[in-house]
Amino acid sequence: MSYTALYRKFRPDHFEDVKGQEHIVTTLRNQIKAERVGHAYLFCGTRGTGKTTIAKILAKAVNCEHPVEGSPCGECRSCKAIAAGASMNVIEIDAASNNGVDNVREIIDEVAYSPAEGKYKVYIIDEVHMLSPGAFNALLKTLEEPPSYVIFILATTEVHKIPITILSRCQRYDFKRITIDTIASRLQELMEVEQIQVEEKALRYIAKAADGSMRDALSLLDQCIAFHYGQELTYDKVLDVLGAVDMEVFGRLLRHVLKQDVSGCIGLLEEIVMQGRELSQFVADFTWYLRNLLLLKASDDIEDVIDVSSENLVRLREEAEMIEADTIVRYIRIFSELSNQIRYVSQKRILIEIALIKLCRPEMESDLGSVAERVRVMEDKLENGIVPSGMAGTGGILNTGLNVNGSSGLETGSPGTGAADRPALPKAIPDDVREAVEKWPIIVGRASMPMKQYIKNAGLSLGGDNKLLVVVQDGLASDYFAEQEGHRELLMQMVSQAVGKDIEVTVRSVPDKDTFVRDYVDLNQMIHMDIEIEDE
Ligand SMILES: [Zn+2]
Repeated sequence: MSYTALYRKFRPDHFEDVKGQEHIVTTLRNQIKAERVGHAYLFCGTRGTGKTTIAKILAKAVNCEHPVEGSPCGECRSCKAIAAGASMNVIEIDAASNNGVDNVREIIDEVAYSPAEGKYKVYIIDEVHMLSPGAFNALLKTLEEPPSYVIFILATTEVHKIPITILSRCQRYDFKRITIDTIASRLQELMEVEQIQVEEKALRYIAKAADGSMRDALSLLDQCIAFHYGQELTYDKVLDVLGAVDMEVFGRLLRHVLKQDVSGCIGLLEEIVMQGRELSQFVADFTWYLRNLLLLKASDDIEDVIDVSSENLVRLREEAEMIEADTIVRYIRIFSELSNQIRYVSQKRILIEIALIKLCRPEMESDLGSVAERVRVMEDKLENGIVPSGMAGTGGILNTGLNVNGSSGLETGSPGTGAADRPALPKAIPDDVREAVEKWPIIVGRASMPMKQYIKNAGLSLGGDNKLLVVVQDGLASDYFAEQEGHRELLMQMVSQAVGKDIEVTVRSVPDKDTFVRDYVDLNQMIHMDIEIEDE
């Protein structure tokens, strides 16, 4: 038996079935009832929020022979022809692939002829921001004085790219992201029609993952159903198909972090990796989990915006009790930096390990928030009468608690662990340089061409004066950073901005990568090596 994708099967035919855009639907129905339909509409909003769906219903409604309360009847000849895609009165154009002046001219030529039957010719131009400037100009003339029987519906996800001249001639409707509740209840409805057994929790997870897009929600649900066709769709199965991690895991992770148990954290991450979970999703979900904890701390009456089942809520409340709001804020900061970085790298796991270690070891960071947390950790320990003999490798309370001036657990990598052929290894990397190296992917991401290209391929090392040394290739890159060009200063500014304090940057060049590997200490590699040391 063949399976029709839910998105196709349940595309709404009537205004009543459109969920989450009531403000728009009501206005349009009123216009139709009053026979005061406009001639140019602009529908803007993120993907999957119903723009083309509503455009099609509107096209049907204006041509319907017996509209019901402003909605198309679905029974008359016109409604049926449009539904079957056989009507000459509804013309859909994808501007992404028809963006030239000629494409628009074709439309304009056609506009001159009134419809053979029915009342209106409706032109739906999707992704209209893709039109070329010339095409916009050509369209503008028609929008200025459209024939009475023509309606233009322009749809776009990027309204800022639409020329103001066009904007000023359209009725603009902003489509909202659809709420998790609305999406979940729509999915529930469809599952009842399809007679598919499904756990409510499972649907809520899909609704949350869809991030405001009904279309994405339906296609995620499709994937899950296809994977477990003919069986009840449970929460666990959904997590499995989408590569996500159960909430309960985050609670376990939090407990390890609060105990500053690095090996517990790394072990748990190992488990997650072994289960084949999607690591970017893990980072996003854990950040969301922390956000929920923070909201719970911030207010008692917040359960509506926290999207968890009642059993999870009990657990979440318990976990929120275990942690201070300041600490959560610091965790969220580290994890949102991580989710920015993680897009650029193939070694996602290593970056997550670094972040987890940062959570466990506030002494690795030097901002005020982490200093405050170091004090908290110390107080906790003193309160419990513990004078710790050391947490996994660092040297006791004096090191972990009071070592405010910088050298952290990570920097005291014991000699001889894999670095035997590198006698010149520095004992410690200054904190600001380390941070610059960790943030390098972000700095590269923010740079524009051609600098982006050069610094992406650059090696990072430590200069004789403990300054950050950026090593580029001879040729185009070294010319670019030549002293009189001022590009080194620009890079310095960007690095300083990313790290949040002034950082001196020296640029040097080498003939090839091998020379760099042979003659320089590779900071990127060192930092990763530290992690391996920490891991043991
Ligand atoms: Zn009809």
